[in-house]
Amino acid sequence: MDTLLKIHNKLEFLHPVHGFADKVGAFGSLKTQNLEPKFHYKKSHIKLSKGFCVKASSSTLLELVPETKKENLEFDLPMYDPSKNRVVDLAVVGGGPAGLAVAQQVSEAGLSVCSIDPSPKLIWPNNYGVWVDEFEAMDLLDCLDTTWSGAVVYIDDKTTKDLDRPYGRVNRKQLKSKMMQKCISNGVKFHQAKVVKVIHEELKSLLICNDGVTIQAAVVLDATGFSRCLVQYDKPYNPGYQVAYGILAEVEEHPFDTNKMVFMDWRDSHLNNNKELKERNRKIPTFLYAMPFSSQRIFLEETSLVARPGVPMKDIQERMVARLSHLGIKVKSIEEDEHCVIPMGGPLPVLPQRVVGIGGTAGMVHPSTGYMVARTLAAAPIVANAIVQYLGSNRGILGDDLSAEVWKDLWPIERRRQREFFCFGMDVLLKLDLHSTRRFFNAFFDLEPRYWHGFLSSRLFLPDLLLFGLSLFSHASNTSRLEIMAKGTVPLVNMINNLIQDRE
Ligand SMILES: Cc1cc2nc3c(=O)[nH]c(=O)nc-3n(C[C@H](O)[C@H](O)[C@H](O)COP(=O)(O)OP(=O)(O)OC[C@H]3O[C@@H](n4cnc5c(N)ncnc54)[C@H](O)[C@@H]3O)c2cc1C
Repeated sequence: MDTLLKIHNKLEFLHPVHGFADKVGAFGSLKTQNLEPKFHYKKSHIKLSKGFCVKASSSTLLELVPETKKENLEFDLPMYDPSKNRVVDLAVVGGGPAGLAVAQQVSEAGLSVCSIDPSPKLIWPNNYGVWVDEFEAMDLLDCLDTTWSGAVVYIDDKTTKDLDRPYGRVNRKQLKSKMMQKCISNGVKFHQAKVVKVIHEELKSLLICNDGVTIQAAVVLDATGFSRCLVQYDKPYNPGYQVAYGILAEVEEHPFDTNKMVFMDWRDSHLNNNKELKERNRKIPTFLYAMPFSSQRIFLEETSLVARPGVPMKDIQERMVARLSHLGIKVKSIEEDEHCVIPMGGPLPVLPQRVVGIGGTAGMVHPSTGYMVARTLAAAPIVANAIVQYLGSNRGILGDDLSAEVWKDLWPIERRRQREFFCFGMDVLLKLDLHSTRRFFNAFFDLEPRYWHGFLSSRLFLPDLLLFGLSLFSHASNTSRLEIMAKGTVPLVNMINNLIQDRE
């Protein structure tokens, strides 16, 4: 396994806060005019936080990682015809899960929709995991390709937690196909390009694309994920970062039960022979997340839950190589790999504003976990219904007024308060070292299921979240209680201040 890491380095990691490379999905997209670049990266040399410098052109590469395969769906897309100069009801910028879900639902109500994405047929690249009950509630069980009857958490070498909650892997090809099919039959038109600018008039907006085409729409929805293409922020952007490196691999064998997915493995005995790495892991721990599909096929992801600045990808890979070697996992081949950088927490966009948003661009990532897909898919009908309701013939609200109503429905006060609590959770997690993290999750997964399920799936609102907090405190060991008090007091005060300031 040691040979896995080669000197050639394709990972191009990046200054943890200011720069994210091409390979890391949506980061680094160049904006023009009013679209400020939010992440900058230098082509030749990238300086890392602790004076560590790697060449971007010769970055780390897993020897067994195949050339990236870009698989497209086989659809004949009905394309938007710019020559007709038509004003569509809704232009959705970004064809990820968030954007397509809204496009599908607004078009279902008979409104005209144009979906704009540089690669509309591309199968989404991320490996999504969700709790089965979340997808069941949305009637999307047919979009899971594998489910596990439960999950396991390794707190350390001696303690494990069996989570009696089924987990599933999203069949992203099926989910996207299903949404595209519905969009097509509802009359959605597609435009293959990047939006570079938006100009607002009183009753409509003009979207300028990088192919020179202008699309006119009554409502513009920004669903561009973490590139935050059009949605405006007025506070400093200071998220934590979840960083992970994952491989879908064929292995000789692995030690995990194929009936359970590994939600978190916090063991660190694989680092016993590497004091420096062990110390780094003690300060900012990473865990293994694994989906065993069979005894020889497994998705393995070394993950930093949240850190500010984010843990360098190279560091994550090094830890993963040591872990797999220790677990006796010999990788025979890699089907695909994943570089995951998820901004967590940070401020919400300006509320309200003319462009409406959903998904990564609209602050919808769970600030304590990095999860978002299920929450966004559940929020899509809220956004879609608001657009349909206010744009529909009865109400006929347009422009800024309409956008304000949509934002109000997406981020009502209860959701904003919930997010504030989750950001408090993130601020505490940012301060925990390996041992405190273990103690924290030891108590967390001992809570009544309605608490930990509700917390992870954004189903608890403020009064219940306070009960959740009290329950967590009462389940915690004395050491952990002291830690929570010492490390949680400042974040708690910040949260209370923010809650007081944020009124309806
Ligand atoms: C590697 C990875 C793994 C993840 N795993 C999970 C998971 O297991 N579970 C979970 O709940 N969440 C997960 N997340 C978090 C989150 O759910 C995903 O990031 C999700 O894809 C976000 O959906 P989205 O539709 O908001 O944005 P995206 O999926 O990022 O889609 C945005 C789309 O907008 C397009 N776009 C960008 N800029 C422009 C532009 N200027 N003009 C037009 N189009 C544009 C992009 O091409 C892309 O198609 C993961 C994130 C990453 C990065």
